[in-house]
Amino acid sequence: MFQKILIANRGEIALRVIRACREMGIRSVAVHSTADSDAMHVRMADESVCIGPPPGAQSYLSIPAIVSACEISGADAIHPGYGFLSENANFVQVLEDHDITFIGPTSDHIRIMGDKITAKDTMKALGVPCVPGSDGGVPDLATAEKVAEQIGYPVIIKATAGGGGRGMKVARTAAEMTRAFQTARAEAKGAFGNDEVYIEKYLEKPRHIEVQVFGDGKGNAVHLGERDCSLQRRHQKVFEEAPGPAIDAETRARIGKVCAEAVARINYIGAGTIEFLYENGEFFFIEMNTRLQVEHPVTEAIFGVDLVREQIRVAEGLPMSFTQDDLVLNGHAIEVRINAEKLPNFSPCPGRITAFHAPGGLGVRMDSALYDGYVIPPYYDSLIGKLIVHGRDRPEALARLARALGELIVDGVDTTIPLFSALLAEPEIQAGSYDIHWLERWLERNLAA
Ligand code: ADP
Repeated sequence: MFQKILIANRGEIALRVIRACREMGIRSVAVHSTADSDAMHVRMADESVCIGPPPGAQSYLSIPAIVSACEISGADAIHPGYGFLSENANFVQVLEDHDITFIGPTSDHIRIMGDKITAKDTMKALGVPCVPGSDGGVPDLATAEKVAEQIGYPVIIKATAGGGGRGMKVARTAAEMTRAFQTARAEAKGAFGNDEVYIEKYLEKPRHIEVQVFGDGKGNAVHLGERDCSLQRRHQKVFEEAPGPAIDAETRARIGKVCAEAVARINYIGAGTIEFLYENGEFFFIEMNTRLQVEHPVTEAIFGVDLVREQIRVAEGLPMSFTQDDLVLNGHAIEVRINAEKLPNFSPCPGRITAFHAPGGLGVRMDSALYDGYVIPPYYDSLIGKLIVHGRDRPEALARLARALGELIVDGVDTTIPLFSALLAEPEIQAGSYDIHWLERWLERNLAA
């Protein structure tokens, strides 16, 4: 059994993991940069270690600093949260070499899924449906044009090493290809240091549907249904719900089974998310995230399970605490991401929180590391909280979200809270009829600067 877990992260996700540790009777170690000495995760953990100066590269992304903190504190295992080192295969390799348990998949699985072409090939071989596209990387413009002619315009050019929605360009016609191809490559080189790109059919009106899977590393795996994360701005999710309004029980069972069987076959361990675009009743795999997702609480709400606890259990070599048959979907959950950003441009808005009040009541969960007087540092992601509501059905969850947003107070900095109140007034949000482009169009109409 683990005695002590180090959390290689900050903010709300660090608190999330500390909470699971405490309920399991495991001591927690926070790590922090000098900018985060007063942060909530440092206050809430049993111990803390300062790992470096504010920039992420010198603290939360520094493998030597984190491994040293683990050795100094005598932690048995590291939970990476999401972002930072959570999908860094080299980090996991270093931990494997030091006999420190990584609470997550093996470095091999992270490497396979981190390269989008290898991921797609692997999933295809495991029977998961994929978006039509190039067979692997596209080396030059002439090949790109040939592939696009074969699959038909419009196409999307994507970075093999991509993430966070960067390095993607759409070419609607052959005339747009030269520019799109070159820009995608240049952006990929700039963002990821790797200019390899591949091509996919561009789907016009898909929904983003992702399936939560969980494996024990011994060939057993389950699925926990899907989340609909179609409401995105610049390919970044802002509002997530489970179950998906467009997915019925039969479809859920079918795609869930495909996903669970795929990860069981590769002996996947821990939490994973298989992301799809869903159009006209068909699923198209786009990528697998080998970590806990920001939006995992909506799945926890409808299945009544603690995914972090399960991650810790399987990392210790224990079986999952549930089987597929135990997982019964109950009600509907929605999460909204509260960012410290100024509308209409969503520019980051760090600064001092002069008042904070979290909403409460039945079916309301607020995951946030804010407190009165907290100063949001300018160095990190602008996510400052997640508001999650759970109701017996979708209308109840929507009404609860409106009510909870009304109770939430975050003063001192601009936030995305007003965006969600405005969105809830939209008939299409109420009806659940939106695709991945809906929010961008809505923002153009309603928030144009
Ligand atoms: P990243 O790893 O950068 O997040 P993804 O492959 O997950 O990249 O894609 C992110 C988003 O980009 C998707 O949720 C979707 O909105 C859009 N997208 C990706 N591939 C396609 C495609 N083939 N057609 C249409 N939109 C796409």
